[in-house]
Amino acid sequence: MADPEQTARQRLDAELDRLEQLRDEVAARIADEQAGDSAELSHLDQHPAELGTETQQREQDQSLLEQLQGELADLEDAYAHLDAGTYGRCEVCGRPIGEERLQAIPAARRCAEHQAAAEAGDGLVG
Ligand SMILES: [Zn+2]
Repeated sequence: MADPEQTARQRLDAELDRLEQLRDEVAARIADEQAGDSAELSHLDQHPAELGTETQQREQDQSLLEQLQGELADLEDAYAHLDAGTYGRCEVCGRPIGEERLQAIPAARRCAEHQAAAEAGDGLVG
């Protein structure tokens, strides 16, 4: 059987790769959208609804980027917990978060119960 810490580390590594790739994609898209702004000035007859959609898309990308950066920060915390031997425990109640939940969310910091409570409290999702 694999060492649980090794398993956790591989899982975090895979998640880190995935998030960094996503973040780079979103950041590149935002850069493209910003580069497109000057080009759009020559298309002032463009349908206003389309312009609105583009603005909305960029806002979505911005918030997605912020969310990904938050998840990457959570991953860094998870590595620190792994080093400290406290990985996989709820930061609120100290109980094990659970293998199934850690598989789905390797950087989970709270058990399902306290994650729900935290999200209800600060309005953050994810
Ligand atoms: Zn808890």
